[in-house]
Parts: sequence; C-alpha cells; structure tokens
Amino acid sequence: MEYKSLAISFRIELGFHAANNEGAGGTNVMESRRITVGDKEYDGISGEIIRHHILEQFVKLCQANKVSLHQRCHGLVPDRCREEVKQWMQNHNVERLFPEQHYSPLSREILNNCALCDAGGYLVALQQQQDEVEGTLKRDSCFEVGWLISEHPAIVDYTQHSAYDPDPKKHNLFVQNMRTGIYGGVLRIDLDRIGFNDWWWLEQNNQYAIGDAERAKRIRLLLQAIRHWLLSPSFAKQAGWLQHMSGLLEGSIVLSKDGPAPFYSPIKFELENGDPNKPIIRPNREYRDLLDKLKDACGKTLEVCRFDSPDEFKKRMVEIEEKFRALEKEDNKGDDNESSTSS
Ligand SMILES: [Zn+2]
Repeated sequence: MEYKSLAISFRIELGFHAANNEGAGGTNVMESRRITVGDKEYDGISGEIIRHHILEQFVKLCQANKVSLHQRCHGLVPDRCREEVKQWMQNHNVERLFPEQHYSPLSREILNNCALCDAGGYLVALQQQQDEVEGTLKRDSCFEVGWLISEHPAIVDYTQHSAYDPDPKKHNLFVQNMRTGIYGGVLRIDLDRIGFNDWWWLEQNNQYAIGDAERAKRIRLLLQAIRHWLLSPSFAKQAGWLQHMSGLLEGSIVLSKDGPAPFYSPIKFELENGDPNKPIIRPNREYRDLLDKLKDACGKTLEVCRFDSPDEFKKRMVEIEEKFRALEKEDNKGDDNESSTSS
C-alpha cells in the first residue's frame, strides 16, 4: 500500500457548547478546559475526547459494513479486549504472558479479530489475584488527535441550573459554562499501522495480521469516521447543549508516501512585540501555505489538498476514501458486497 500516513490541519467554529469540562473541583461550578498562556486563558477541547467520538463513529461503520469486532468492542468499552486476552491464555495454557513467547501470536489474533482494537489500541493488565492469569499487553492508537485550541482568548459565559430532586427542599444548584470560539486542530493517522502487528519481529512472522484488502477497508472506514465527526462533531453534554456549527471549516489534508504526514497548526504561539513576558496565541495564517511549499519540495511523496468549506472537505475526503475502496476491490475480485450507500 503506497500511502503511509494522513494528516489534517483544520480550523472549525463551534458556538454555544459545553464540549469538554474539567469537573467541578469540589464546588458547584463546572469548569471548562482552559489553557493558560501568559496572562490569558484560551479555550481547549481535549484530543482524547475527540478521539473517543471518532471511534464511536468507527464502530458504527464497522457494524454497518460487517467488519469484525470483538463482542465487547461493539460497545466501545474502555478495557476492550481483556476477555479475549484471557481466553487466548486459557486456550494456550498460559498462566503468565512473556513477551518473547506470547506477544506476537496473541497480538496477531486480537488484530485479526477486531478493527477497533486495531485502530484504537488497548491496554490490558491482568493480575493473578482477580484474573487467575497475569500479564500486560498494549497497543498504541493508530491515530492521534491534538487539542482543539481557540485562536483567541476564551469566551466563557456561566449559567446557573438546578438538578431535579424529589425533595422540594433541595435545590441542588450548579453552575455550567457555555463557550464559543474558532479553534485550530490537527490530527494524524498512521495508515501503515492499521493491521500492523507491532510484535511481529519477536517471531519473524508476517508484519501484518490481516490482508491488504481488509486493511484498506478498515482505513477507509476510519477516514469516513473522521469525516463524519468533522462535519457534525459530537461532544459531551450535547443532548441539551448541542454546539452551534457556523459552517466555518477549512484546512489542508496531507497524504504521505514515505513517512508520517506533516501537519501545521492553524494557531501559533508568539511574544507580543517580542516581549518575553507577553506570550500570546494568534491565528497562524500561513499554515496552509507552508504545507503547499513543503509539497513542492517533497515532490511525489506528498499529496496536499485544501478545503475551504464543509462541502469541499467532504469531496476531498471521499476522493481519498475511494482510493482505498479501489484497493479493497482489487483484492476482492467478484466479492463486492460493499454497500454504496454506506458513505
Ligand atoms: Zn476489540
């Protein structure tokens, strides 16, 4: 597969949301995530939250496209493949996991059986006392998402609520914040790690746990999940605080054939008037020009495409997804059971 990595640098506007909160810290005020730079606070939404919601989309797409998932991975549970690791150990009469003997064949089976464990990674820690077997096994996520950070100081408004309690004497007042802003974000997918068994070298076996056609399909569905999320982001508290999208969505998509795809942040750190005591965050107006210049210098190893609106983003992403769909068909001649309505 010629493509090794894909990155997206983007700006998005989210209005009137409560996307990501720090907790109440012992008070009745629910604090939002913020990043302090110098004497100013900027609004932040954690990449881990975004990754979780993208994986939710990915699981739905896997189910719709009949891509294999562990039974518990249909529900996106945090401890993922714990039961499968235990089952494998029991089946192979293994009481304790040793890297040299077990990591490679066990990882191969986990990756083969589950697209979520493959793309999203896992961490399993088993203890003799409670699990009757012992050992740890982990896989890093195949994609990373940076924090969304506002390109201007945080705009936060507080509103007071009361939680329902059947006892009328209890008011249970709490304070919630509402935020709005234009955010810069980056994300990157290690396409060449989808299906890749990180421990293959311990037994000098195949590097990939699944075939190219299945890899292409998982990649396409992960790209589709990212597309769905960026076009209609989901967050915490959206049942009653659904963020107001303005339609501002712009950025650059970079596909790399020879290593991690580069990305540049749409925000940048500066010293105001060169004063070391006045650090600030500003929009980085050049982030896409820098990527275009880099593409010129890299030649055929990079593909860079811009988008200036949600519809352009959709078109560009579908074009890339189709490259991977073609690879699925190449390997699956006469077995085209893909629903064309799935996108
Ligand atoms: Zn799984």
